Amino acid sequence: MATAVKEVKNFINGEWVQSSSGKSEAVINPATGEVIAQVPLSSREELDQAVKAASEAFSWWRKTPVPNRTRILYRYHQLLVQEAEELAVIITQENGKNIKDSRGEVQRGIEALEVATATPTLMMGQSLPEIATGIEGVMYRYPLGVVAGITPFNFPMMIPLWMFPLALACGNTFVLKPSERTPLLAERLVELMMEAGLPKGVLNMVHGAHDVVNGMLVHPLVKAVSFVGSQPVAEYVYKTGAAHGKRVQALAGAKNHAVVMADCHMEKTVQGIINGAFGSAGERCMATSVVCVMEDIADEFTAKLLEAAQELKAGDTQDEEAFVAPLIRDAHRQRVLGYIESGEAQRARLLLDGRSVMQELPDGYYLGPTVFDGVTPEMKIWQDEIFAPVLSIVRVKSLDEAIELANRSDFANGAVLYTTSGEHVRHFRENIDAGMIGVNVNVPAPMAFFSFAGNKASFYGDLGTNGTDGVQFYTRKKTVTARWF
Ligand code: NAD
Repeated sequence: MATAVKEVKNFINGEWVQSSSGKSEAVINPATGEVIAQVPLSSREELDQAVKAASEAFSWWRKTPVPNRTRILYRYHQLLVQEAEELAVIITQENGKNIKDSRGEVQRGIEALEVATATPTLMMGQSLPEIATGIEGVMYRYPLGVVAGITPFNFPMMIPLWMFPLALACGNTFVLKPSERTPLLAERLVELMMEAGLPKGVLNMVHGAHDVVNGMLVHPLVKAVSFVGSQPVAEYVYKTGAAHGKRVQALAGAKNHAVVMADCHMEKTVQGIINGAFGSAGERCMATSVVCVMEDIADEFTAKLLEAAQELKAGDTQDEEAFVAPLIRDAHRQRVLGYIESGEAQRARLLLDGRSVMQELPDGYYLGPTVFDGVTPEMKIWQDEIFAPVLSIVRVKSLDEAIELANRSDFANGAVLYTTSGEHVRHFRENIDAGMIGVNVNVPAPMAFFSFAGNKASFYGDLGTNGTDGVQFYTRKKTVTARWF
């Protein structure tokens, strides 16, 4: 007997409500091709209801003392820790990353929440007595109002948790629109938040795609927009939101370069590149997509890399041993196959062809690790974010040549240097154009007490997510200059 497919609901003013838009999309397990739910593509009217509920809630939530707001987050923290394994299983089901990566993501999400629990300290203003005779100056921070959050498919837990806990703790109310490809974990995050004791209307969720996003960008009651996703959409969200008077932070795509020096620790570097390039199917904004390797060691490095890449196991994503994970959808895989063909057509040398994995696991959207050598900046595989386990090797003569190449990219999210030399590290740090730098660390995503953002086309806005940037983004200032008679 066929079981009915779950229909995901919106969450408006503390109630789970079925969308009335009449439009929906299938949520698919990328490892099996199985439809696991239907997600509504909600209308602007539904968004409007959520924004109005959030706006109404803002009138009293902003006056709820900060310690009381954050105390709810402590309870939320307990629940997330308690449910960690269940959350990891949901991530793996709807996103396709393997269970170990999902557990890692759950942990990173919880860490972002931990930072938000420090809001009473982080949100403090500044004061200075006697700025002139008998005059004092005091700066206070206040929430903005309704904040909208728009998230991508690749971190269904961590990225929403970059946004709403901190925004809420700062006194804002929130409307979340998760990726329509991964709405199930978001649903659980909201359920647990309510279980933790969040009052109705403070956090709302409207599922959908561009209609909901467009509604958020022009809605007069939405004061700020946090976006994470691909570059063209990030640019559009930033420009449209800003043109409608909103504060916007839009984190975008990437083309991260790793540089392998001759003095690197070879075995650990190979392992680092394997994880950085092929982990989570390369569907990370901090994934390594180009490796610049010094000519002297390039043959040895490449041979070792290929050997290690060929040993990676593909298979059941809930299996502890599986490494190779499926891409999110077949449409995305078709786009990636186009890039592999363009690499061949532009005469890069295809050293490892991941397409063979497709026959081994025909139901899921698998693609094995793929490695090109002899890649040049004229090639599309060097220029574009592919967002897949496709790695380009460029052989270089010096660290400066590698930095010059990396800095030619339109993107500037992450960059990694593999070396044992402090001098190289310093030179790299001073000259590479990237927002987040790794030294022998394959995915140098900063911990949540630091801010997270790239440069150039990887980021649109002024203030990144997390850390003190996050607090500044979710608050506005009032500065009082006072004389007392
Ligand atoms: P995406 O841009 O397709 O979708 C992101 C969000 O935007 C989703 O909620 C989606 O519904 C919405 N959206 C998509 N198209 C839209 C349109 N035309 N108009 C309005 N809204 C639209 O991104 P994705 O595929 O879900 O995520 C992968 C991308 O996100 C990659 O480019 C990756 O590098 C990037 N990313 C960046 C960071 C970072 O911190 N810089 C982190 C994670 C992911």
